[in-house]
Amino acid sequence: MSKVFITCALPYANGPTHLGHLRSTYIPADIYARYNRMKGREVLFVCATDEHGTPIAVKAEKEGKKPKEIAGRYYQMIKNDLESCNISFDNFARTTDPLHYQISQNFFLKLYQDGFIYAKTIKQPYCDECNRFLPDRYVEGVCPYCGGEGARGDHCEVCGRHLDPIQLQDPSCLICQSTPEIRDSKQYFFRLSHFQNEIESWLNENDALPPNVKNYVSQWIKEGLNDWILTRDMEWGIPVPLDETEGKIIYVWLEALLGYITSAALWAHRNNKSWKKYWDDKAIHFIGKDIIYHHSIFWPALLMAYGCKLPYTIIAGDYLSLEGRKMSTSKNWVIWTSDFLETFESDTLRYYLMANAPLTRDTDFSWDDFQRRINDELADVVGNFLHRTFTFTNRFYQGQVPEAFQMDNYDQEMVDKIKKLPIVVGEYIENFKFREGLVEIIKLAKQGNKYFNDKEPWKTVKSDPEIASTSLYICNQLCKTLSIVLNPYLPVKSLEIIAVLNIEEKLEWDSANSFIPSGHKILPAEPIFSKIEDKVIRMQKETLYQNQKEVDTVKEIISIEDFAKIDLRVGNIIGAEKVKDSDNLLKLIVDVKDKKLQVVAGLAKNYSPEDILNQKVIILVNLKPAKLFGIKSEGMILATKDTLNVLSAEGAAVGEKIK
Ligand SMILES: [Zn+2]
Ligand SMILES: [Zn+2]
Repeated sequence: MSKVFITCALPYANGPTHLGHLRSTYIPADIYARYNRMKGREVLFVCATDEHGTPIAVKAEKEGKKPKEIAGRYYQMIKNDLESCNISFDNFARTTDPLHYQISQNFFLKLYQDGFIYAKTIKQPYCDECNRFLPDRYVEGVCPYCGGEGARGDHCEVCGRHLDPIQLQDPSCLICQSTPEIRDSKQYFFRLSHFQNEIESWLNENDALPPNVKNYVSQWIKEGLNDWILTRDMEWGIPVPLDETEGKIIYVWLEALLGYITSAALWAHRNNKSWKKYWDDKAIHFIGKDIIYHHSIFWPALLMAYGCKLPYTIIAGDYLSLEGRKMSTSKNWVIWTSDFLETFESDTLRYYLMANAPLTRDTDFSWDDFQRRINDELADVVGNFLHRTFTFTNRFYQGQVPEAFQMDNYDQEMVDKIKKLPIVVGEYIENFKFREGLVEIIKLAKQGNKYFNDKEPWKTVKSDPEIASTSLYICNQLCKTLSIVLNPYLPVKSLEIIAVLNIEEKLEWDSANSFIPSGHKILPAEPIFSKIEDKVIRMQKETLYQNQKEVDTVKEIISIEDFAKIDLRVGNIIGAEKVKDSDNLLKLIVDVKDKKLQVVAGLAKNYSPEDILNQKVIILVNLKPAKLFGIKSEGMILATKDTLNVLSAEGAAVGEKIK
């Protein structure tokens, strides 16, 4: 029997899951896993929480807790989220499991002994106050590429570039804010460059890899692969298993990838089986597109170095936006899984997220569209077809699947379509085209409704009972086929339909189109799919916008002492000119009575120099001077952020303090 090893990207244990995670990774992987089980294949479907790394360590430090405590809290939340969506993992582990430490250290050691990992001394930021090195997110500063503020030691959010901590300009320690010094530190590197050609041919020759993965990676291959730093100087993590490496840990990305293996190994121990057979048959990674690089370059190179079989393919789901805007957890522009499930059934989410776009395209979650699809497609098409068939069968045939008599062409056409449905849908799922499979299902349910209408069994049941009986026989068969092919997509609803059909067979894909015999007793049925009312959607929208507003208005509470540090004065603009080569900036001279300040202000889109001259404005006078476009700026003029309206102080005296 063939085996399939399926993984989902490891959720990072510093927050719960939201709809974007489910859409890109967990729901598609689960559909694939369930389908393969129904095909009679042996499936090993695993995941784990990723619990090391600096974000968790920093959060723990700020909350005065142990990192493992923070990770444990979110492990539980994430596990609950995924279980509530019926993601059918065979094992869901943690990267803080002792076995994971063992597996990661052994892996590191083997690569070191085989010469794929080597030591090199490099420069690293070191905080004298905190008495330690500052890896990754422990240091913040200005991005050397785009000038973006608040760039982290490993990444700039503004331009999206990967950074080295010592590249940051104006760096400061995230914990104590002091300026770090640069010190030498011995780190360990993986010879990624050695695998350049092998990775390139693996990517080019592997037809199973989807185009979005290949395209993304080819640019990096062209640039050339650099050796990859695999260790960090910090406490929270898996210790480097070499002599004289105290205080060094294995970089979180290396061991997180090995989390797939740990989770499988834990399952294997428990069930007394071998996970490796699954891996060697066919391994498939489901991930979000933001981590294509790690899975299609680092991971295969590490596996090559270790001497393992490479994964069969990598399926990368695209992003989900929310009401047309990019999701943002910090701005609370997000729908958390647990919040969603307080009001709606998980199958409605699984349906909507798979139906509204192919996995390899960015798509949007909108409350109105969600309501429309659930009502028009699930309730009105599938639900209606099931309900009228079940009700009619119960009412006119004592709940027994009626007999089939002579079939006309129309009947035969329906029978053929039912027979074909599992084959068509199955092929789509095999090729990771989850939406296309679902569309076929809905299409046939729609045709089922038309068939029911055209056959008018409510008339023929009296005028021509053989016609009514044959058509209801066929409708019941379609209900049965739908109940099986919907199972990977809507596992809960599928079982509800199966319960009404009163069939006890196993969930087997290949018998989805075998017919129920006439005379089989079905059970009385309540509607299986219900509509979502307008007021429910209205409330969800209100909550979403309300949460957003709260974030907008309340930033952080500051003390009166903090406020007192702000020196605001009334100033008169006595000089104004455009900054050369800039559409936004004006260079202003502001008289604040005891001195004149030069200010560069981003107001040119709303004010010409003539407009603003001689206006009385409010100006922050004790701002640290900065250079913009090479021009010194010594203050800040208060204006509204989006509409760029300068706050006026007309009627006040120049130099007057504001409190
Ligand atoms: Zn940047
Ligand atoms: Zn510090």
